[in-house]
Amino acid sequence: MDIRPYKPREGIKILISLAHISIIGGGLAGCEAAWQAAERGVGVTLYEMKPHHYSPAHQSPDLAELVCSNSFRGESLENAVGLLKDELRRLGSLFMAAADATRVPAGGAVAVDRGLFARIVTEKIEQHPLITLVRQEVTELPDRIVVIASGPLTSDLLAERLRPLVGDKLYFYDAIAPIVTADSIDFGRVFRASRYGKGDGDDYLNCPLEQAEYERFVAELIGSEKVAPRDFEKAIHFEGCMPVEELAGRGIETLRFGPMKPVGLVDPRTGREAHAVIQLRQENREATLYNLVGFQTKMTYPEQRRVFRMIPGLEQAEFARLGSLHRNTFINAPALLEPSQQLKAEPRIFCAGQITGVEGYVESAASGFLAGVNAARLALGQPLLAPPPTTALGALVNHITSTESRHFQPMNVNYGLFPELPGRVKKKERRAQLAQRAQADLQLWWGEVQGTEG
Ligand SMILES: Cc1cc2nc3c(=O)[nH]c(=O)nc-3n(C[C@H](O)[C@H](O)[C@H](O)COP(=O)(O)OP(=O)(O)OC[C@H]3O[C@@H](n4cnc5c(N)ncnc54)[C@H](O)[C@@H]3O)c2cc1C
Repeated sequence: MDIRPYKPREGIKILISLAHISIIGGGLAGCEAAWQAAERGVGVTLYEMKPHHYSPAHQSPDLAELVCSNSFRGESLENAVGLLKDELRRLGSLFMAAADATRVPAGGAVAVDRGLFARIVTEKIEQHPLITLVRQEVTELPDRIVVIASGPLTSDLLAERLRPLVGDKLYFYDAIAPIVTADSIDFGRVFRASRYGKGDGDDYLNCPLEQAEYERFVAELIGSEKVAPRDFEKAIHFEGCMPVEELAGRGIETLRFGPMKPVGLVDPRTGREAHAVIQLRQENREATLYNLVGFQTKMTYPEQRRVFRMIPGLEQAEFARLGSLHRNTFINAPALLEPSQQLKAEPRIFCAGQITGVEGYVESAASGFLAGVNAARLALGQPLLAPPPTTALGALVNHITSTESRHFQPMNVNYGLFPELPGRVKKKERRAQLAQRAQADLQLWWGEVQGTEG
């Protein structure tokens, strides 16, 4: 192992044994991972295929390119993504430092000048003495410690190389149904039951619709505003994950014979089957989140809120995640990943970013942070870290690595993923208290970690 002097953060001058890792993908996760590893004195080779190859969505030769919106969403701790950004700042994230340096006015959101943001991250990476940036498409996995951060549009050749490692647990499209928080469901209108009493007999929450309600709902689905698919997404036509509005457009009865089938679901209050039923399936162990089964959709976000709140029992629904359907390369993380972000089957391989099944810019950077720190720690022979599940970072990682793997779909950070607070807490105080607990737990945890890092 090389020994070379290294001058990392200001004021610290020490001799560090230079371990080395590779990172594939210079996007949000890969750059954060590279920075964190290098700041811990570990040499990094960061591979980025641009400008020789571009995914269908990338256009700039710079690293950390924002392929769509220039917003990192809300700043307030009322939103879990605001808390996640706050945590990343406290943890010394490159992503957040660049975001704060390039902010543009955006009301309550953190939005950036995308060109400047990418330029700053690129310069920081290029100038770091321990990072070597190699502009090359990776088609074979390096045989050292490696972080795979190749994103939702991972190149085909690399995806092929991942197959032997992940088998049939690598997906190329997501089909995301909306998720609502349990405490926003009207339990006076929904009833618990499984079709024909199978399973535990009451595994699902069911929203019953009478004929007039059903017909109005179908008409609204068909008439609603949709997100136009990008050119490279137009080929999505899997029968098993059709957008619900497309099914609705096939005929008035189609949904009643599909995801809104009422058969075998007797409403105990009427003693009969309703005309149609929408089923909600428990999403997490804490039973704080429920997803609308079969309701993947290309409706715009405002339209989803409007139309899905027509569903009996969901009039006041709070959406932890809205539905979507895109091209998205991701693995079945609950089956494959450790909370450290290592592959269970091959611990020298870490995954980071959207490919792990987190959804969103901030979440991808956060995942890169953890993978970069842990890959460095593995290289340095230190124990690996898992953040407390009460923090935004920990809740997200905990969800993607320990949720039910059968129905796994990508997830953004939201307060529904957090462990419940002890005792009874008023609904309007819940988020503030979750945020306070998270900040306290993060401080304690990170203080201890830094103590061991020296
Ligand atoms: C079209 C689209 C729009 C999106 N819009 C938003 C949005 O508005 N807001 C939001 O929060 N999230 C959005 N996302 C989701 C997601 O948050 C972003 O894609 C985010 O950039 C993911 O970060 P990442 O680091 O995992 O991947 P990326 O940022 O995509 O980085 C992956 C990098 O790996 C490189 N790469 C791929 N394969 C190889 C290889 N074999 N060798 C070397 N390099 C390789 C790519 O060129 C890329 O630079 C969008 C996703 C897509 C696909």
